[in-house]
Amino acid sequence: MSTVEATRSDRVVKTEDEWRALLGPERYNILRREGTEPAFRNKYWNNHDPGTYVCGGCGLPLFSSDDKFESGTGWPSFSKPISDDAVNVRPDDRFGMRRTSVECARCGGHLGHVFDDGPPPEGTRYCMNSGSMDFKPRR
Ligand SMILES: [Zn+2]
Repeated sequence: MSTVEATRSDRVVKTEDEWRALLGPERYNILRREGTEPAFRNKYWNNHDPGTYVCGGCGLPLFSSDDKFESGTGWPSFSKPISDDAVNVRPDDRFGMRRTSVECARCGGHLGHVFDDGPPPEGTRYCMNSGSMDFKPRR
């Protein structure tokens, strides 16, 4: 997890119009407008299949089912990203709350927030929006 701006050489950059056309309204609202989907009424909160969660904007692998845990929040929750350079974090002070926003390191798409009340040993809880990701089942 890094607080510096992404310097990935494969960074994906599109205009807002291009993103809107590519993602459709629901995804666009989460990934590009930092929207939040409803708890328990999203695709993956209760998904227990083995596999990989990839970015809905650019397909970058973000989280593994191996690190998914039951948080009780109604959103898919992970103890850590699939690799250190998969996501970037930055402060988010909207709505009068001090939170840490998590975004895809490749396309900058908003994924959710990370909190420090996760299970050991990491102690982190990546609280993600299902709509920001696609699930690729393990074969
Ligand atoms: Zn992405």
